[in-house]
Amino acid sequence: TKGIRPLVAGNWKMHGTAASLGELRQIANGFLHGLDADTEALICVPATLVSRAREVVARSPVRLGGQDCHARASGAHTGDISAEMLKDAGASHVIVGHSERRTDHAESDADVCAKAEAAWLAGLVAIVCVGETQAEREGGRTLDVLSRQIAGSVPAGAEAANTIIAYEPVWAIGTGLTPTVADVAEAHAHIRAELGRKAGAKHAASMRILYGGSVKPANAAELMAIDNVDGALVGGASLKAADFLAIAEAY
Ligand code: PEP
Repeated sequence: TKGIRPLVAGNWKMHGTAASLGELRQIANGFLHGLDADTEALICVPATLVSRAREVVARSPVRLGGQDCHARASGAHTGDISAEMLKDAGASHVIVGHSERRTDHAESDADVCAKAEAAWLAGLVAIVCVGETQAEREGGRTLDVLSRQIAGSVPAGAEAANTIIAYEPVWAIGTGLTPTVADVAEAHAHIRAELGRKAGAKHAASMRILYGGSVKPANAAELMAIDNVDGALVGGASLKAADFLAIAEAY
């Protein structure tokens, strides 16, 4: 979208130990040397790696994110991680409402909304994920689902500085399937219109809407050229530095 700096974000999911930091170093080096400075880069590593990853990306423009946070600032929630902890470890962003969280942990739109607010309170940018399942798309309900998810998962007060939306059709995640260009364009335009209802047209116009779901070097240029696509959220292909850098270069 005109005037919006694109973001290419990686989501390592539950992959990565200290041994993976070499890939992160290569990504950082790619952005230090040569890659178009107009594209911003972010890698959402497992929470256990954020503080070590911080040293790896320190002199590069690559930023770090978490993959989830608790809705509360602190408390008796064994095993959970707060937004403040992620921030303290070196993250600037956190993904909330990824479809794997919505499915594996039964997170509702209200839960996701509370997590986004917790992220803001800690000074993190929330990457709020939305997207329809295969059954919802086949049933012609995609746009209704997106409306419901934007209305329910995005807190009032969302603006470009604190919120990024990721459109990730559930059936496209990790499957090698992607929607058609027309379907992506329709979904992203719809999301921007819904953001306008939520946050006002001025804020909606400058918020990033990422596409996610089987983005790879071979399809990145086509997907990133679509109207209202302001970057990518990349799962599998973000684990390999060469693939992630090739996607970033597709802009
Ligand atoms: C994701 O997990 O956000 C994702 C888009 O995964 P993949 O790129 O592997 O489909």
